[in-house]
Amino acid sequence: MIALYPGSFDPLTLGHMQIIQRASGLFDKVYVAVMVNKHKRGFLSKDVRLEMLRACALEYPNVEPLADDGLLKDLAARLKVSAVLRGVRGEADFAAEAPIADALRALWGIETVFIKADAGSAHISSSLVRELLSFDAPLDKLVPPKVLEMLKALS
Ligand code: ADP
Repeated sequence: MIALYPGSFDPLTLGHMQIIQRASGLFDKVYVAVMVNKHKRGFLSKDVRLEMLRACALEYPNVEPLADDGLLKDLAARLKVSAVLRGVRGEADFAAEAPIADALRALWGIETVFIKADAGSAHISSSLVRELLSFDAPLDKLVPPKVLEMLKALS
C-alpha cells in the first residue's frame, strides 16, 4: 500500500518524524509532500522545507519527500496512493481533519488514515517551534538535529 503524508512542515518537527517513522513501517511506500499554498507566505521557503525533509528522511528507504503547490486530490491521483495520511494530536486536530477526510472521500473517493501522536510528542507543533525560535529558546526537544542545524544556519 502506498500512502501520501501531506503537510506544511514549516518547519519539520519531531512530531512529524514520529508519524513518518511509524508510517514507513506500516506502508510499502510513503510520499511526504510539502504542500505549498501559492497565496500564503510561509515561514520557510518551499525549498528549505523540502531540504529539511530530505535530510531527515534519508534513513527510511521507502519514504520519498516531494513538494507540490496544487490540490491534494490531484497529487494523490498522480501518485496513485491508496490513502492520505494525517497525524492527530488530540480532539482539536481530529475536529479539523474530519471534514477534510469526509470531503476527500465523498468527492474523490480518497481514503484518509489517521495516526495518533504518542503522548510524548502530542505537544509538538511547527507554530510552537516558530514562536520559540523568535525568542532564541532551545529547540532540541522539538525538531530533529538536522533541522536544528539548518535553522541555526538560517538565522
Ligand atoms: P498543517 O498541514 O495543518 O499545516 P503540519 O504541516 O504542521 O500541519 O502537519 C502535517 C500533519 O502532521 C498534520 O496531519 C498534523 O496534524 C500532523 N502533526 C503535526 N504535528 C504533529 C505531532 N506532534 N504529532 C503527530 N502529528 C502531528
